[in-house]
Amino acid sequence: MKASRFSYARPDTLEEALALMADEGAEPMALAGGQSLMPMMNFRVARPGILVDLNRIPGLSGIDAAGDAVRIGAMTRYRELAASDVVAKHLPLVAAALPHIAHAAIRNRGTIGGSMALADPAAELPAVALAMGATMHLVSANGTRDVAADDFFLGAYDTALKPGELVAGVSFPAAGTLDRFGFHEIVRRHGDYAMAGVAVACAGGSVRVAFFAVGDGAMRCRPAEEALGTDFSGIDAAVPALSELEVSGDLNGDEATKRHLAGVALRRAVAEATA
Ligand code: FAD
Repeated sequence: MKASRFSYARPDTLEEALALMADEGAEPMALAGGQSLMPMMNFRVARPGILVDLNRIPGLSGIDAAGDAVRIGAMTRYRELAASDVVAKHLPLVAAALPHIAHAAIRNRGTIGGSMALADPAAELPAVALAMGATMHLVSANGTRDVAADDFFLGAYDTALKPGELVAGVSFPAAGTLDRFGFHEIVRRHGDYAMAGVAVACAGGSVRVAFFAVGDGAMRCRPAEEALGTDFSGIDAAVPALSELEVSGDLNGDEATKRHLAGVALRRAVAEATA
């Protein structure tokens, strides 16, 4: 199949892009790396009236460490994140997740903003954002607002983004020297979407556990977080606590299989965090 007819705009400024996005009647959609949107258009799952290409807009990409946070522009590509010393030093959980995202060709084009906005239930970075307590910086013709990752991801392909709004960037708390992180995904072939995965963080004295590819989007499991404890010694109690996780089956396995894989992934991520 080929995409249905659409118009295309390549604005040079954010203001121009926001004005195009604000015209709801024109049915605009933002184009970032196009690694998900192009196939979705070709399958006619997405039928934008106008594509608003964000690739020429200055200031939407970049990685800035400021104080105790790292702000990443929405159009920053996975490849740039993987090559960044700032990410390697301050955001070890992001660095751990990146090699698991698709293949090099897709990482060359795919963007962090596109991943957050799409909210694919099997995507790695939304779960990392939840585990790290990241903040989404949103912008529209009406102004800007910040939304915590906890309030941003609403379900499968569903976020707090309102019509006309763009993700401008994502801020992550920089890792402290005593913070611990673990990441693990179970996958048939490296580069495929995960069958189950988890990001685990103990940062600033609080534990956060976020799963992906097990249900209706990236999701925390608070009973498992409470059971784990800040030294992760409660792993044997945390795995049964996954009975509280809202798991659903997919082509990779039924609900029981997914719940089992979630437990395996959690044990391995915690082992990594405590190694
Ligand atoms: P696009 O495809 O351009 O856009 C995706 C959606 O987000 C669209 O609805 C678009 O309108 C919207 N959007 C984009 N940017 C913004 C913004 N700044 N503000 C508001 N809305 C925006 N991803 C994984 O996480 N893990 C994987 O293992 C994985 N495997 C893949 C394998 C294949 C074969 C392919 C084709 C893709 C895979 N992906 C995977 C998806 C890939 O990571 C995409 O790049 C990503 O999901 C979307 O990023 P993008 O920049 O390409 O966004």
